[in-house]
Amino acid sequence: MIELRVHGRGGQGAVVACELLAQAAFLDGKEPQSFPFFGVERRGAPVTAYARIDDRPIRLRTAIEAPDVVVVLDAGLLRTTPVTDGIRPGGLLLVNTAADPASLPAPRTVRRVAVDATRIAIAHRLGSPTSPIVNTAVLGALARATEVVSRAALGRAVDEFVPAFHAENRAAVDDGFEAVRFADPAAPSPAPVVPGTAPLPPFPEGPVASVSSRTLRTAAWRTLTPVLRTDRCTRCNFCWKFCPDDAIGFDSRGYPVIRLDYCKGCGICATECPPKAIDMVALEGGMA
Ligand code: SF4
Ligand code: SF4
Repeated sequence: MIELRVHGRGGQGAVVACELLAQAAFLDGKEPQSFPFFGVERRGAPVTAYARIDDRPIRLRTAIEAPDVVVVLDAGLLRTTPVTDGIRPGGLLLVNTAADPASLPAPRTVRRVAVDATRIAIAHRLGSPTSPIVNTAVLGALARATEVVSRAALGRAVDEFVPAFHAENRAAVDDGFEAVRFADPAAPSPAPVVPGTAPLPPFPEGPVASVSSRTLRTAAWRTLTPVLRTDRCTRCNFCWKFCPDDAIGFDSRGYPVIRLDYCKGCGICATECPPKAIDMVALEGGMA
């Protein structure tokens, strides 16, 4: 039996990834199982989903604590979530990142694989530019890296179980399959990243919303970063009004200043800005 654990953020398609994987495994003639675990249910919040695949019926129903394969849909999670906890020796870590797979933090006995699924998803217009849905590209990479499921079965599963954008999702599967990068087995593994415990910086002066997340630094949730274009900004303050995390203040000229420690990258400010003066930009790991 192969056990997989998928780490993602709300809106990236982690749960659907496991469901699609299970459907494709079934089409390959295997016995699959998939189920999610939710934490905070809002866009950008960490989400975990699981899948088991075997040649025989699976009676186990527990959460997977010692996975053979760990899939990470957002490399920013590597900074905050112990994604490789329990991973078996000889297992595989697959991360959606443009970075060198040899730089991925994992035990030495674990194979490290990378695919730039965000680029693929944006190229095929899956999701929105501010919130790309990377799951099918990552599944294509998984098919290549593990052979736990075939590319053909993934394509059929997309056609049968994805409600829309079949051609785009099939293309993402194919691109993910082709774009996999494997770490040099001789390259040393870096030490695991420990989440930061630095005290919160002082919060700048300025107008604040009635509901604030000042005590919760959500920067590590971010996959896309808002970047202001002052040449377009009319200083209307709409972005401040709509930011759910109170992550926007103003400079002395009245231009918005995005407090990246508190910005989770939801993209609401970019959506609501009337002259489209905020771009959501993919920075490696989602951090500025
Ligand atoms: S909503 Fe757009 S135009 Fe208005 S202050 Fe914010 S960035 Fe500037
Ligand atoms: S600054 Fe923009 S992207 Fe960041 S949390 Fe606020 S609305 Fe979301």
